[in-house]
Amino acid sequence: MQHLLKSLPKVDTLLTHNELKMFQKSTLLPLIQSHLSLLREKILSNAFSPQELESAIKDIIPTLKSKALKATMPTLTRVINATGVIVQTNLGRSVFSSEILNEITPFLRSYHTLEYDLAQGKRSERYTHTTQILCDMFGCEDALLVNNNAAAVLLILNTFAAHKEVIISRGELVEIGGSFRIPEVMKSASSLLCEVGTTNKTHLKDYENAINEQSAMIMKVHQSNFKQIGFVKQCHIKDIIQLSRKHHLIDYFDLGSGHIGALPLADEPSVREIYKYKPSLLSFSGDKLLGGPQVGIIIGKSQLIAQLKQNQLLRALRVDKFSILALMATLKAYQDKAYHKIPTLTMLTLTPKELESKAKNLKKRILDSEIASELEIEVIPLRSIAGGGSVPHLSFDSFGLCLRAKKQEVKYFESALRTLGLISCIQGNHILLDVRTLLEGDEERIVEILTKVLSS
Ligand SMILES: *Cc1c(COP(=O)(O)O)cnc(C)c1O
Repeated sequence: MQHLLKSLPKVDTLLTHNELKMFQKSTLLPLIQSHLSLLREKILSNAFSPQELESAIKDIIPTLKSKALKATMPTLTRVINATGVIVQTNLGRSVFSSEILNEITPFLRSYHTLEYDLAQGKRSERYTHTTQILCDMFGCEDALLVNNNAAAVLLILNTFAAHKEVIISRGELVEIGGSFRIPEVMKSASSLLCEVGTTNKTHLKDYENAINEQSAMIMKVHQSNFKQIGFVKQCHIKDIIQLSRKHHLIDYFDLGSGHIGALPLADEPSVREIYKYKPSLLSFSGDKLLGGPQVGIIIGKSQLIAQLKQNQLLRALRVDKFSILALMATLKAYQDKAYHKIPTLTMLTLTPKELESKAKNLKKRILDSEIASELEIEVIPLRSIAGGGSVPHLSFDSFGLCLRAKKQEVKYFESALRTLGLISCIQGNHILLDVRTLLEGDEERIVEILTKVLSS
């Protein structure tokens, strides 16, 4: 047994091997140690025949090399979103246009008055820069930004309802992707959940009957990522606001994916429309339907916003300068009706005609390439969705390509494309590429990726 163990190469020999020396020692050493100890164990338990041992030893270098390559591959890489899901949280939600980025880079490359009042020569607040534009857009008294909408919910609950009750409909205790659940956030904020009504129906009197000395707030949560149909009723924010006022409670609407009204979305009220009812507080995400940076936008009554600013938690939830700048530029694009600067909006409003011609162009590009004969390819109508846990009841007429590799099974084909950064959908034996979510330059890269996968 000992002589077999001795046939294994030494750690130092492997570390300096020609095939492996391009890797950092810190990457290589743990891989070598764990691989050698695996082989040692197998030898000691007699798991190898002599031939198997010989081939395992031969395999050491290639195995370590492939493991080291995998370990050093960047995990954050650019991909092509051909899923037709526009606000794809796993793929970074909203994309920025170069116009927006060009507007903000001079600020990022320089010092700027993030928290400085030039006239007074004194410290100021980072939140002031977007206040005016938000107030102009929505008619609110004041506004505040935090890291994301989850942070907005946490801050609002913790400020106004720590150790107090928050009344909320059972139909609105939602879970958003990535483990954000309203009852759990309430716990983190030290708020007491007071659920009323039933899953499908909540009446105003359910809220009213639940009000007691412990109540601090009535909260409404937008059922962002699901829709109930049939025998259902949720109370309108207008009635919740009225009831809250009558009982001197705060009303708060977590709107989730707020949109500004530049999109024709049936059955999905815009922030502006909801704010007409003057809720005490309302919050929404910056990178969902708005198409801006990751940020939580809180708008509402100035006295309440002032109280939010007093909460120490705000320091931990604070928004960074990149997001503030990107939000300012995005909001300004809305004000100027320069919607082409907001890719999320552009993608949501592409017409079927534009999409069909985009799909035909992509098909032609592929047919003109060297791998044309390896594929069956067809332009087909598809349906895209907004994604990001918003408007689940809406889908948008789109076009795309239906592909089949003649010599590859669909699941291997899809996985090969994915590994090279082309994210697609499988339908039956086919790959679907929805052109709605393709960005400039993606068509060219798609042909390159297809060529790599099909010519090897
Ligand atoms: C998306 C969403 C959130 C979380 O917002 P993030 O910006 O992802 O933090 C909270 N509430 C609702 C209703 C949402 O739709």
